[in-house]
Amino acid sequence: MNIAVVGTGYVGLVTGVSLSEIGHQVTCIDIDADKIEKMKKGISPIYEPGLSELMAKNIEEKRLFFTTKHEEGFSTADVIYIAVGTPENEDGSANLTYVEVVALKISELVTKNTIVVIKSTVPVGTNDLIQELINNHKRTDVTIEVVSNPEFLKEGSAIYDSFHGDRIVIGARSEQAAHIIEEINKPFGVPVYKTDIRSAEMIKYAANAFLATKISFINEIANICERVNADVEEVAKGIGMDQRIGNKFLKAGIGYGGSCFPKDTKALLKIAGYVEYDFELLKGVVTVNKNQQELLLQKLKNRFDSLQGKRIAVLGLAFKPNTDDMREAASIVITEELVKQGAQVVAYDPISMENAKKLLVSSIIYVNSVEEAIQNADVALILTEWDEIKYMNLDLFKTMKTPIVFDGRNCFELDSLKDSMIEYHSIGRPVITREMTNALI
Ligand code: NAD
Repeated sequence: MNIAVVGTGYVGLVTGVSLSEIGHQVTCIDIDADKIEKMKKGISPIYEPGLSELMAKNIEEKRLFFTTKHEEGFSTADVIYIAVGTPENEDGSANLTYVEVVALKISELVTKNTIVVIKSTVPVGTNDLIQELINNHKRTDVTIEVVSNPEFLKEGSAIYDSFHGDRIVIGARSEQAAHIIEEINKPFGVPVYKTDIRSAEMIKYAANAFLATKISFINEIANICERVNADVEEVAKGIGMDQRIGNKFLKAGIGYGGSCFPKDTKALLKIAGYVEYDFELLKGVVTVNKNQQELLLQKLKNRFDSLQGKRIAVLGLAFKPNTDDMREAASIVITEELVKQGAQVVAYDPISMENAKKLLVSSIIYVNSVEEAIQNADVALILTEWDEIKYMNLDLFKTMKTPIVFDGRNCFELDSLKDSMIEYHSIGRPVITREMTNALI
């Protein structure tokens, strides 16, 4: 099948590369000429495990092409995927401008029957609006059918997810269009769930809102655990064994970030608002997450009279491990406040430092290893649970001026701190003082 993918961000590029890997002829289109130049040379503009290798392979085997010209991709395409961004508007609603611009391009340029697949996360009713927009603006008498096919990949394991996802959701008006999209995806071997368009759109928002709810729920339990001397890691294991609850997404920490949960939860609140429904539960989820992102700052405030002049090592900047995505990362809020309070921030992240430099306050010092970051530091803050941090040698903390660690991701088992002489603050677990480390089992 000839496929065009519009937008080569995390979703579009992974979609294009994966579709070419299963044998389709794919042209990826982006308005960012620098990105396209890089990709033509086989260089991925984003960090995603396994992506560069598959990209190079499919370029080499002449199934994967890149261009800035929409007409190049559209002229041969049987199916056009739209995977452009739908960022948050100031009022929390989803900004559909990028999707609409692509829809108008399609109306202008497509001259044969084509299926348009919307991969971008869009509010319920958007596929219908885009269908109408295309019908009203198309220049020739062709049939262009819009199909909803929301994306569920997880950054950091996106390529793996393409081939091992839990489901592919297809929302279509006609059985014929749904069948074509199902056939395109068949080689992935992922279960397909076919439904109506509006339900498909809602499945995406409901899934993200539910996952965000699980995170905010366990974070609230963690905050209570701290006050009643329980251990949230034990609690999460105990409740996760109940199959009705499940053991995933029960990791307490400093909240969710990234390009999806924050914006999609707010967009769903807006969608509910449009139909005069007050989604109380989800409002709470969003508020809890905001507070949770600031929890380490609160803990620092309780521990130190002032942060003025303190050297603070920040370990991990990305919103989660195995990605270079800095969008809505807790590190943005936290480092800004540390600098405001007069601390000297020394930061390290294995992958996302280049992206971080564009978003974080300029006075941050970036270093190339955990060792460099913590040397002579007064305090270390762990913001992302990269393996490199989770499995680091705890003796390294002895090179700090004072081994005081605030771990926002519960990277270490409390038992592993035995004899470490580290003062250790984590989420939903008792504080371990230096003296206590002698007494740990
Ligand atoms: P992104 O911001 O990383 O990429 C969007 C790309 O679209 C950019 O490269 C931009 O240059 C390009 N673009 C914009 N307008 C264009 C146009 N007219 N023609 C061609 N290219 C154009 O976005 P993303 O993170 O890949 O997300 C895309 C969509 O998928 C969003 O709706 C998002 O909510 C959804 N989604 C994202 C994820 C994720 O983990 N990132 C997961 C599931 C769903």
